[in-house]
Amino acid sequence: MTDLHDLAARIRYVLVRTSHPGNIGSAARAIRTMGFARMELVAPHRFPDPEANALAAGADEVLASAGLHAGLVDGLAGSSLALGLSARRRGVNLPELSPREAARQALAAATRGEQVALVFGNERTGLENEELARCHAMVRIPSVDDFSSLNLAQAVQVMAYELRMALLGDEPPAPPPEHDEPPADAAQMEQFYRHLAQTLDDIDFHKGREPTTIMLRLRKLFQRAQPDERELRVLHGILADAQRMAGLANGR
Ligand code: SAH
Repeated sequence: MTDLHDLAARIRYVLVRTSHPGNIGSAARAIRTMGFARMELVAPHRFPDPEANALAAGADEVLASAGLHAGLVDGLAGSSLALGLSARRRGVNLPELSPREAARQALAAATRGEQVALVFGNERTGLENEELARCHAMVRIPSVDDFSSLNLAQAVQVMAYELRMALLGDEPPAPPPEHDEPPADAAQMEQFYRHLAQTLDDIDFHKGREPTTIMLRLRKLFQRAQPDERELRVLHGILADAQRMAGLANGR
């Protein structure tokens, strides 16, 4: 039996481009009260900062052990399921989950030994589309339409509460592992997208068109498939052969 502590340790809270250090402190307190400890900070505007410690109200250990990263991809390293919290639906066409359903899926993944990230955006601007594109699903706390945005730390609290309830609850046994190989992590997926983008260039797929939209669509497709490491090796193999053939065709 995996105990609660091991499961909680596989779940991280990723705060992206947070403006106010007080919110980082309040978020640390929120996750600590629900039995979590792992926080990753992506390009915070001010951190460390006494205001963060003041509002952590004793959860200083969470702040002291928080990872600091320049970009979201680093903050997601090692995780295979990323869930992006957003008050608005945005242009990104991701599946939308309630906090409860998100907690259920996060727990199922953690029970299989995977690492899970809950991703929260900047106080004013939320998560950018490029950041949501690195997530497998979007989570929306069902607030009212005409006043939908919660304070960042309060959104963290709602999600942490749902995760705690899922951990404590009489969950049905987790579904059997879907992968006999470990699922690819965020860094491996980024490497694959770089290879894919390069190959599309090499085979002249874009024909002068802007590649951004098609790359976002392809990301969505592969995020949905959640390939494991072996599947990713096969895809890399196919791309490498396509590049080789393109090289031959171009007389290189
Ligand atoms: N105007 C921004 C609000 C940012 S609030 C926007 O529309 O996204 C800061 C962060 O708190 C958000 O990026 C999100 O991660 C979280 N949050 C706030 N309200 C939320 C809600 N109703 N559902 C899900 N996440 C929410």
